[in-house]
Amino acid sequence: MAAKIIDGKEAAKEIKQQLSAEAAAMRQAGYPVRLVAVQVGHDDASKYYTNMQARQAQAIGIDYELVELPESTSQTDVIGRILKLNADAAVSGLILQMPLPKHINAAAVQLAISPDKDVEGMHPENMGRLLTGGALVAPCTPMAAMELLRRACPDLAGKEAVVVGRSTIVGKPIAMMLLQMDISATVTVCHSRTKDLAGHTRRAEVLVAATGLSQSIWQRYQQQKAAGKAVGLPDLSPLISADMVAQGAVVIDVATNYIPAGFDEAGEPLKDERGEIALKSVGDVDFQGAMQRASAITPVPGGVGPVTVAMLLKNTIACAKAAR
Ligand code: NDP
Repeated sequence: MAAKIIDGKEAAKEIKQQLSAEAAAMRQAGYPVRLVAVQVGHDDASKYYTNMQARQAQAIGIDYELVELPESTSQTDVIGRILKLNADAAVSGLILQMPLPKHINAAAVQLAISPDKDVEGMHPENMGRLLTGGALVAPCTPMAAMELLRRACPDLAGKEAVVVGRSTIVGKPIAMMLLQMDISATVTVCHSRTKDLAGHTRRAEVLVAATGLSQSIWQRYQQQKAAGKAVGLPDLSPLISADMVAQGAVVIDVATNYIPAGFDEAGEPLKDERGEIALKSVGDVDFQGAMQRASAITPVPGGVGPVTVAMLLKNTIACAKAAR
């Protein structure tokens, strides 16, 4: 039987309805929720994200402000601005838009954001609380992955969970969340040095994939090609093939790989109507193949991605409530 598709768009809609009610209650009680994003310099991708954040925050009744600082702003001045926003009781949460100009140390600036307003859940203090328990906020993508996982599999206690990927912002926090007492999965974390990846994934009752390997391979190939060093076409097939998925597993595919939609007979990537390489987004898992083995699976796109923004808004309301 084909797997159930875990619909991230539908889940995000439900979560945002709930958050909208919470934001309205806060406003009525005299505590409007306010999210501030700080952007230094101009970046097209960042503009896309800030527009999306503004739209989604305002749609659920969260005030949104974008603070745009010139490219030339010094690190000291960016930190100074963040400290002022930390001290402003009307600001519930802060986002630092990436990328920052090269003369600014992103880690130093991120550290300046108060853990109480860290709606991206990336401050070391909030990361630490993931280990010790009692976290007010957590990184948004891991929260989104767990939200979808719990919808598909409410009782995770004792389940064999395998997380593929160990980054600080995705893989490790997901592993920590799976270990927490109220979840109590048995967790294995795999990475690029793991021997026999398939041996681990095949015994996973819960499989979380978060590597972005296909996109990394594509990017490396393009660099080699530009340098005249590319040999043959890259293998962009998914890291996790259908035979690596256990029968009945719940699969959460966190990855978003932007890779060519196809290649012509000469091995050149197909172009879109603007003459640019036509890209498609895919996960780490062979979705069609895994559909025949898994019991439930997230699609890419339309799985973890839409829920991630909802989790940012959830963290913002959590920070606002804690500050009352
Ligand atoms: P990183 O590049 O920081 O980490 C990738 C991880 O994958 C590393 O731990 C790496 O291992 C591991 N890995 C690489 N190759 C293999 C392999 N052959 N076998 C097993 N493990 C491997 O990526 P991120 O964690 O930042 O992102 C992961 C994916 O999640 C990306 O596709 C990204 O686009 C997506 N993402 C999605 C979001 C969303 O909202 N849906 C938000 C954030 C990220 P090692 O540590 O040994 O190098």
